[in-house]
Amino acid sequence: MKGFTNQSGSRVVHDMIKTVQQNKQYLSDVDGAIGDGDHGINMSKGFTLCEKELEQNPGDLSYSLKTLSTILMRDIGGSMGPLYGMMFKSMARVCNGKEMIDAEVFSEMLKAAETAVIEMGNAEVGDKTLLDSLVPAVRMFSESADEGKGFAQALDLMKGAAVAGRDSTIEMIANVGRASRLGERSRGFLDPGAVSCCLILCSMADSIKTLIS
Ligand code: ADP
Ligand code: MG
Repeated sequence: MKGFTNQSGSRVVHDMIKTVQQNKQYLSDVDGAIGDGDHGINMSKGFTLCEKELEQNPGDLSYSLKTLSTILMRDIGGSMGPLYGMMFKSMARVCNGKEMIDAEVFSEMLKAAETAVIEMGNAEVGDKTLLDSLVPAVRMFSESADEGKGFAQALDLMKGAAVAGRDSTIEMIANVGRASRLGERSRGFLDPGAVSCCLILCSMADSIKTLIS
């Protein structure tokens, strides 16, 4: 079965950091509509601290994800520090000690990520959070992999589900987090967490596709 080495997977985190940095202003603009406009600043600060740490002490995919999670939980305020911190920590735990990451391992990583965010934030699909992008993407990847679709094709299908999930938040009313204070007025805008989660998942998918091709 197709896969990539844990060692080469450091690239996945590296590319994700670049993606977040490049979208700093966009993420804060999205958060400005229904939140406090800090989402891009928070995210870029955390991911850039991780970039500096990994430049000093590089490692494989599991090590890089663990480093990212530690920094997000320790240094980043807002909702995203703990939520993404736990998400990446759980992904790191699944691939720790694995020499190769194939579709089966990646599927377990995604499921662990979903569980971690739900346990941490107690939100559900439909609450207008990052879960609205994450949950359908995880389901699409795992179902596609189970059906025997190739790793790359399952990643493409995952990207499509993440994008559709992200866009589904426009019509939703926020039930949790800062935006929930707006009630009905939160409708008509993208959820910033769903936008960043979609960027993260799509970046991961594109990096992995490069590694396995
Ligand atoms: P803050 O709201 O503290 O300013 P951010 O702007 O960094 O934090 O992140 C806001 C995003 O956090 C929201 O768009 C939403 O997707 C996500 N979020 C907030 N609360 C929860 C939760 N309980 N579960 C999942 N995601 C959440
Ligand atoms: Mg905010």
